[in-house]
Amino acid sequence: MGLFKKNIEEEPATEKEPGYLQDLYKELDQTFLPDHAQKAVRRELERLEKTDPSIAEFSVGANYIKFVLSLPWGKMSEDNLDLERAERILNAEHLGLSQVKERILDHLATSIMCQSRTYQILVVDDEPIALENLAHTLKKESYNVFTASNGQEALDLFESTPFDLVVTDLKMQKMNGIQLLENVRNISPETKFIITTGYATVESAVDALKKGAAHYLPKPVKLETLRQTARELLDQKRRYQVPRGSVLCFSGPPGIGKTSVGRSIANAFGRSFICLSMAALRDEAELRGHRRTYVGALPGRILSEIQKAGVKNPVLMLDEIDKIGQDFRGDPASVLLEVLDPKQNSRFLDYYLDIPFDLSQLMFITTANSVEKLPSPLLDRMEIIPFSSYTMGEKRQIAQNYLIPRQLEAHGLNKNDLMFSEQALDSMIMGYTREAGLRNLEREVAQICRKIDRLIFQKKETVPKKIEKNDIDQLLGPPRFTFETRTVNVRPGVATGLVWTEFGGQIIFIETAIMKGNQNLIMTGSLGEILKESAQTALSFVRSSAEQFGINPDFFNGHDIHIHIPAGSIPKDGPSAGITIAVALLSLLTKRPAKSEVAMSGELTLSGELLPVSGLREKVLAAQQAGLKTVIFPLKNERDIKALSSEVRDAATIISAESIAAVVELALEKSLKT
Ligand code: ADP
Repeated sequence: MGLFKKNIEEEPATEKEPGYLQDLYKELDQTFLPDHAQKAVRRELERLEKTDPSIAEFSVGANYIKFVLSLPWGKMSEDNLDLERAERILNAEHLGLSQVKERILDHLATSIMCQSRTYQILVVDDEPIALENLAHTLKKESYNVFTASNGQEALDLFESTPFDLVVTDLKMQKMNGIQLLENVRNISPETKFIITTGYATVESAVDALKKGAAHYLPKPVKLETLRQTARELLDQKRRYQVPRGSVLCFSGPPGIGKTSVGRSIANAFGRSFICLSMAALRDEAELRGHRRTYVGALPGRILSEIQKAGVKNPVLMLDEIDKIGQDFRGDPASVLLEVLDPKQNSRFLDYYLDIPFDLSQLMFITTANSVEKLPSPLLDRMEIIPFSSYTMGEKRQIAQNYLIPRQLEAHGLNKNDLMFSEQALDSMIMGYTREAGLRNLEREVAQICRKIDRLIFQKKETVPKKIEKNDIDQLLGPPRFTFETRTVNVRPGVATGLVWTEFGGQIIFIETAIMKGNQNLIMTGSLGEILKESAQTALSFVRSSAEQFGINPDFFNGHDIHIHIPAGSIPKDGPSAGITIAVALLSLLTKRPAKSEVAMSGELTLSGELLPVSGLREKVLAAQQAGLKTVIFPLKNERDIKALSSEVRDAATIISAESIAAVVELALEKSLKT
């Protein structure tokens, strides 16, 4: 018992013990906090001195103080500003993605350039000792420091050197500090001024500030204060220099490497990495915390994560910013803007903390599946880097080089225990994971590893060393996706389209039917407004050009037409299904079934013109995944088709068609004339 007591004597006092507040005071003295945080903690400590430790309010206050003390107010990890190393890391950790890597490296180069810029400071004083002391203090901070012993000499130096900051004495022969400031304003309005003087009168201070000085320091100048003031001013300048759109936004379907590239960037800079999912965020308080007047109030997620990271300059990934809950209370875009804007985020206010915290040292990366619906002020702040779907070949290679080795290790196996044949991987990609990215593929690899682990434990004699195509059924069950498309289009009136969604390219079947009725157009399948308009346009086009296609021009009389796009739970919109709807209708009315291996995408005008569409790569890859052989795009997409990589062009036969009549001939089974 005695021994136990001795041990706990060395522990800090607990809340209810008398020394508790003293310990907190001691901790406050030993911790670096900026002035405003010092004051807030002291105020709270003084309040707690008058509060009974047994009531809940005491604990709330004490927890608050501990939280403030635990924040990394001044702690930063040192950046590794080596661009070549960054490139090496990005390449080693990710295969392909060459355009993404290029743009990231451009961005990092600018960021490194801005960060490594050495600021030029001019110190002006007619007392040699003061001049030397001030200059020495600033040189130690690695600024480029110049000196002058009066205003005129300083002004002359401006002719050859641009200065970011001037630290000048007020009273000097020839030209005093204020005159120097006024002269410099004309030639270099961006230069900041700190005025120092022994004649510390209120008037001279006010006068200097009125004329545009940023700060006023009485003499003898406290060197630590000078150091901090200069740092603050120059940091501010650096923030204002950050180019617009300096926050990276990775956009693209899930599982395509956005998070993992973000992590590599953090590795490259030697910073810690935090990923905050914005999906399903319901309340501003989740980001910003609750006011302490709430029972059980907590800080927001941003500050909690920074506290855990222990440094104030991690890489913070705000994941899926396009998925912030619809029923978000508060305005998500304005919170995000405040967090991401370097002019505002140096004074970020978490409601729990209740005093500003500087987020400007964080490196922000956001991700979104689709940036289309993001508000423009937010888009304006970000540099969008699109990630696109992987081809079969890339998936195979990434699986062999990254996913499989990682999963083998995670499951206690190594490459001598288990290999995957190319055909096995192809079968997993085509039959089990119809996706743009690699998430499900990685999951399936993991599942096979678990099965192998189990077989090893069961000491089965037939533990496969190499997974072949034929093993896949047994290990993963029957394939989840089959090429059902081949049988779908046997009936006239059904055509296969290709659309772009935030999850990558997708194939859709457009079904049409005609029945007795009253000239109604019925549309079902969660169609968005634009898609509905495309359907109306397609029908009007077919009605107005019926004769050209050998259709009775009165076909609509006494009939209804129904257009249905199955998979109703997926909301669909956009104009690119126009030609598919027209082809489905023409197939219906000419009774010529559409060829099952052909898919198409293109916008249709009322006069039958074909307008270009976007997302070609994703669409071709979706067609390939679904086992379709031919893809038709409008002729106006010719340039985009040429820009596709050879692997994508080889994924299907890509045909560009000039008119809907040409599409009909390519897509429908029998020629009209027969
Ligand atoms: P996202 O954030 O886009 O949803 P992830 O970054 O989580 O996707 O990627 C899913 C998985 O695929 C991760 O294990 C990631 O490391 C891997 N991955 C994705 N792209 C690549 C690539 N180009 N090279 C290597 N691995 C990749």
